[in-house]
Amino acid sequence: MSLDEKPLNFLEQIIKKDLADGVHQKVITRFPPEPNGYLHIGHAKSICLNFGLAETFGGECNLRFDDTNPEKEEMEYVEAIKEDVRWLGFQWAGDVRYASSYFDTLYGWAQHLIKEGKAYVCDLTPDEARKHRGTLTEAGKNSPFRERSAEESLDLLERMKNGEFDEGTKALRAKIDMSHGNMNMRDPILYRIRKQTHHQTGDKWCIYPMYDFAHGQEDAIEGVTHSICTLEFADHRPLYEWFIENLPLPAKPRQYEFGRLNLSYTVMSKRILKRLVDENHVNGWDDPRMPTIAGYRRRGYTATSLRKFCDMIGVTKSDGVVDVAMLEHAIRDDLDKNAPRAMCVLRPLKVVLTNYEAGKTETLTAPGHPNRDDLPSRALPFGHEVYIDVEDFREESNKKYKRLVIGKRVRLRNAYVIEADKAIKNDAGDIIEVHARIIENTLGQNPEDGIKPKGVIQWVAVHDHTEFTVNLYDRLFTDAAPGAGNKDFLDSLNPDSLTVLDNCKGEKGLLDARVGKGYQFEREGYFCRDSKSESLVFNRTISLRDSWAKIADK
Ligand code: ATP
Ligand code: MG
Repeated sequence: MSLDEKPLNFLEQIIKKDLADGVHQKVITRFPPEPNGYLHIGHAKSICLNFGLAETFGGECNLRFDDTNPEKEEMEYVEAIKEDVRWLGFQWAGDVRYASSYFDTLYGWAQHLIKEGKAYVCDLTPDEARKHRGTLTEAGKNSPFRERSAEESLDLLERMKNGEFDEGTKALRAKIDMSHGNMNMRDPILYRIRKQTHHQTGDKWCIYPMYDFAHGQEDAIEGVTHSICTLEFADHRPLYEWFIENLPLPAKPRQYEFGRLNLSYTVMSKRILKRLVDENHVNGWDDPRMPTIAGYRRRGYTATSLRKFCDMIGVTKSDGVVDVAMLEHAIRDDLDKNAPRAMCVLRPLKVVLTNYEAGKTETLTAPGHPNRDDLPSRALPFGHEVYIDVEDFREESNKKYKRLVIGKRVRLRNAYVIEADKAIKNDAGDIIEVHARIIENTLGQNPEDGIKPKGVIQWVAVHDHTEFTVNLYDRLFTDAAPGAGNKDFLDSLNPDSLTVLDNCKGEKGLLDARVGKGYQFEREGYFCRDSKSESLVFNRTISLRDSWAKIADK
């Protein structure tokens, strides 16, 4: 995106002014995920914003793992997050950073606050501390340990660090104001005891810093100029600034908040996504139904379209819900322009062309894409028998049905017009085969007798095709706001979010389909090869039109 094309969002305006005023020479932003799950589409918004601002203003963006919470974090998530950021097309400045690599420095700053009389070790239990905290309308009460000497607090902190005390028995707190209107300023906890092994620091620490005591200081260490986070941190900003005022930091970063992304029909909290995975409602974090970046990638969403979507929704100072149809639009738009076309029959029904000699074959051609000469054309083998989709044939039908009907004509896409004569049934009365005739001289032209085909349907040759499995995905939730009210979000799960079709027939070229490349299966939707299956499996990325709206109307 160039700066002249669009009105600047509020963050771009701030940065532009800071650079013009010489407040900063270079912009440094950061994307700070906690490695406690896979990234979701909300994170994509934050990534596009932070990396995008750095890109726009010639600055840098760091990738920093906010790993201050050892019990919920894992290396698997660290690796997945790195892969997702790269796949979206962004490169972080220098090495990946970890909050945990600043633990020594943070500890020194905690000691500094104690020496300055601005922090103390408090022995209240979490329950007692809560009672002392007061409410939004009532001032809190000072902890009885608030006036403990700096020496004693320093000694206790050191012993907390070394593991001499049990979890929950002590905490280090800032000494600010127990009657402050902002609850976050009522002597917030800086360190709590956690006897947990950490994925980066092992068993070195028995205390871990709270997010608030860590984040701004990490920003300062890294020289972050604009620390951009979501609105729920607005109430934490006074505390962020308090640390900046009261610590000898190497820089003075500033925090700015923007509205987080919420999407209809989608849940985004990692806690809930983890539950979907752990309780096997989906097949892992990268299940194509998940709103994770890994899930979208496996489903066939492109990085370009996710970035485009993030651009479309913009950046505001208030929260809102974006219609998921907008995301789907961005995906369709990209795939429509770029996906090569192919024919695939999802539920095959054999059509015997009685006037086309058995054993005779010919090779027809079809364009790779209707508007893209740069995509290679396809060779289509044609013969005595073809498969069409079960849904594309009826013995009799009304005018609205523009497919194959007995006594009526249809065009086989990129091939002949055919006319159906009879349906062959098994003992159970199911149609197992259709007998039809080709109309001569109808390649690329209408029938000479003037009786036009009713429609166009896709097909593949019986003698030359490839077989595969198709996963038809639909939305994971049936409710626009899953779990709204007092409902459990599991009650909103769509029981039909996955339909597996095993016997699909497609053009042979699909055997060479590359993972990560989208195809339009004509009249069916956009599909991509599944990255995890050994046999040939295609995932439906998205239907051609919004099938959801149609279902909802019924
Ligand atoms: P969740 O609640 O889903 O676990 P989180 O905010 O706890 O999300 P983090 O890993 O801490 O997840 O977030 C990393 C960054 O991504 C943060 O700066 C956060 O504000 C941002 N972020 C998370 N969710 C969204 C969202 N829905 N929209 C925009 N930014 C988001
Ligand atoms: Mg979090």
